Amino acid sequence: MDQIDCIVIGAGVVGLAIARRLARAGREVIVLEAASDIGTGTSSRNSEVIHAGIYYAAGSLMARHCVAGRRSLYRFCESHGVGHRRCGKLIVATTAEEGDKLASIRARAAANGVADLEELDGAAARRLEPALNCTAALLSPSTGIVDSHGYMLALRGDAEAAGAAFAFNTPFERARAERGAITVEAGGETPMTLGCRLLINAAGLHAPALARTIVGMPADKVPTAYYAKGNYFSCSARAPFSHLIYPVPEPGGLGVHLTLDLGGQAKFGPDVEWVDDIDYEVDTSRMARFYPAIRRYWPALPDGALAPGYAGVRPKIVPSAVAVQDFVIQGPADHGVAGLINLFGIESPGLTASLAIAGHVGGLAGIGAGDEPGDLAS
Ligand SMILES: Cc1cc2nc3c(=O)[nH]c(=O)nc-3n(C[C@H](O)[C@H](O)[C@H](O)COP(=O)(O)OP(=O)(O)OC[C@H]3O[C@@H](n4cnc5c(N)ncnc54)[C@H](O)[C@@H]3O)c2cc1C
Repeated sequence: MDQIDCIVIGAGVVGLAIARRLARAGREVIVLEAASDIGTGTSSRNSEVIHAGIYYAAGSLMARHCVAGRRSLYRFCESHGVGHRRCGKLIVATTAEEGDKLASIRARAAANGVADLEELDGAAARRLEPALNCTAALLSPSTGIVDSHGYMLALRGDAEAAGAAFAFNTPFERARAERGAITVEAGGETPMTLGCRLLINAAGLHAPALARTIVGMPADKVPTAYYAKGNYFSCSARAPFSHLIYPVPEPGGLGVHLTLDLGGQAKFGPDVEWVDDIDYEVDTSRMARFYPAIRRYWPALPDGALAPGYAGVRPKIVPSAVAVQDFVIQGPADHGVAGLINLFGIESPGLTASLAIAGHVGGLAGIGAGDEPGDLAS
């Protein structure tokens, strides 16, 4: 049986960032990926927004890793020539009642270390975005957008340059953890059995199911997986906005928001649809709800402008009745299995937070909790 130092399961943005972090610290790494390429799961079915870190509970992993990860991601994009734009976002109130909520959003952001939000009255917001209907707004200048595939390619490039190897079409099947060593069985065209010292479960939506196949992993430490689909609708009309436009959040979601890609094309969504299975079919019946929600802040949205876009599925680990979840990153101190790290519930802002999550995993793996070897800041 071949022995490898570290095995990372999953070549989504999180597995890639972790593989890069480990390889650059001099660790031997192989990434097992069930699909034929990097980033074919949730990492290519999201909004590509670099989040500032506004809405998360203070002190949560989401808040900490979003803020730290955002700074690292901008630095990474600049140093690696990855397409991105710090376009900013407006959170818009269209009623006095919504306007009253902006102060608490600003306070929550400040508690997370996001101190650059600016309150605007309706006229000031319309000076930035003349097509907007709003009574007041918050401007988040540090929100941006990124070419997520370009980012993942750059992560893979760094990881490979540091010696990491990738095995595609190679699904992890099961593992056994005993006496400080882990034996992994992978399938595909060339099934293999590998021994490793460190196993990282970064399988996204499948992470809980995979953890259950690891003999030695306590079942009561594995969360139940739930799925919340997000449907997107594209916009055939030119949307006259240069900022991302978000309504004041509603219970259970951020509301129907407008995001832009690097080419300036607008899309709307994602909404929140709890589903029993992973299903990427856009639910077109939901389009009728999008028009009135968008017209609250963009009254000129033309009839017939929306078309089904794509869908992503949030890796939930709490049921719909529970409003919030946090990232769960488990090391041996949490589950008692030497050499095993599980990542559960890495939903938004996982793209933004990916480099900080990799740093967190680096800390658990004993190589330092920062972005780079020798960087101890988390
Ligand atoms: C609708 C939506 C919108 C979002 N928008 C944003 C946003 O704008 N900004 C932001 O910061 N975040 C956003 N996110 C969150 C972000 O997309 C995710 O947090 C991130 O992509 C998760 O990456 P991952 O690597 O954990 O998972 P994935 O990208 O799903 O990667 C997991 C990988 O594991 C592989 N795998 C699964 N099972 C096995 C197995 N048995 N063996 C080997 N490999 C396996 C899969 O093939 C996949 O490649 C959004 C998420 C959703 C759902």
